[in-house]
Amino acid sequence: MSAQLIDGKAAAKASNASVAAAVAGLKAKHGLVPGLTVVLVGDDPASKVYVGSKERETKAAGMNSTAHRLPATASQAEVLALVEKLNRDPDVHGILVQLPLPRQINPDAIIAAMNPAKDVDGFHAVNTGLLWGQGGGLVPCTPQGSMLLLRQAMPKPAGAHAVVVGRSMIVGKPVAALLLGQDCTVTVAHSKSRDLPAICRGADILVAAVGRPEMVRGDWVKPGAVVIDVGINRLPDGRLVGDVAFEEARAVAGAITPVPGGVGPMTIACLLRNTLVAACRQRGVPVPSL
Ligand code: NDP
Repeated sequence: MSAQLIDGKAAAKASNASVAAAVAGLKAKHGLVPGLTVVLVGDDPASKVYVGSKERETKAAGMNSTAHRLPATASQAEVLALVEKLNRDPDVHGILVQLPLPRQINPDAIIAAMNPAKDVDGFHAVNTGLLWGQGGGLVPCTPQGSMLLLRQAMPKPAGAHAVVVGRSMIVGKPVAALLLGQDCTVTVAHSKSRDLPAICRGADILVAAVGRPEMVRGDWVKPGAVVIDVGINRLPDGRLVGDVAFEEARAVAGAITPVPGGVGPMTIACLLRNTLVAACRQRGVPVPSL
C-alpha cells in the first residue's frame, strides 16, 4: 500500500485564496490593506529568489509589498536603523529580514530590534515565549505550514507520539512546541540522539528537519505513520530531495509530504497568513478565520 500524498502546493494555493478573500473583506470593511516589507542585505542568489517570490505572492493576495535592498557591505547600524524606521511605520504590518545576513551583521540583534507584533517570521524572543506559553504570538512560517499539512492527514493528533528530528530555532523547536500544543507526546531527536532509527520507529507522526538528504530510511518509519519532510536538499545532479528517502518511506507510511511540493510551498503561504494576522491585531480589528 502506498501512502497518501499530502499536497503542499494545493494546500498553499487554497490558503492563499482564503487570505486574498480575507484581505478583500478587510479593505471593504475597514479600509485596511495589510503590508509586508522584506529587507534583503547583499546578493545571495537563493535569497534574491525567495524575496522575489514573497513580493509576488504578497501582491497576488492583494496586500502591499515593499522590499528594501541593501548592499552586502551594509553595517549592522544601518540595518538596525531601517528596522526601527519600519517599526514606526503604521503602513508596515509585517517585517521580514531575509536570512542569512552578511557576516558583519548579527541576526539575533536584528531580530531583537524588531517590534514583535510585526515579526512575521515569528523568530523574536517574545513570539518564541508565547509559542511555548499561552500562545497568541506570531508562529514561525515553516512549522505553521507543517502543522497545516499534518492536520490534513491527521485532523486530531491529540495523544499521538510525534518525533521531531532536528532542534533548530527555525524548524525543529517550534514544530515541537506546536505538536505539544496539539496534545501530542513529543520526542525531539538531534545529532546526539542514540539509536535514531528506533526512536523514529515509535512515531505516529514523524517530522524530519535535519538538512541531510534522504537520511530517514523506509525502515525507520512506523507502518501507517504520517511523515512530514521539511528538508530541502540539492543533490550534485541538481535534484531536490528531502530528509526522508521518499520512495522507501512512501511504501510504509500512511501519509507523506513530497519534496518538492510539500512543506516548501506552505512557508510563503504562512507568511501571508501571518501578515494578515499582524495587520488585524495592529489595527484592532478581528482576525478573519481562514
Ligand atoms: P539546522 O542545520 O539549523 O538544524 C539541523 C538539525 O538537525 C539540528 O538540530 C541537528 O542536530 C540535527 N541533525 C543534524 N544531523 C543529524 C543527524 N545525523 N541525526 C540527527 N539529527 C541531526 O537546519 P534547519 O532546521 O534550519 O533546516 C532543516 C532542514 O529544513 C534543511 O533541509 C532546510 O533546508 C529545511 N528547511 C526548509 C524550509 C522550508 O521552507 N520547507 C524552511 C527552513 C528549513 P544538533 O542540534 O545536535 O546539531
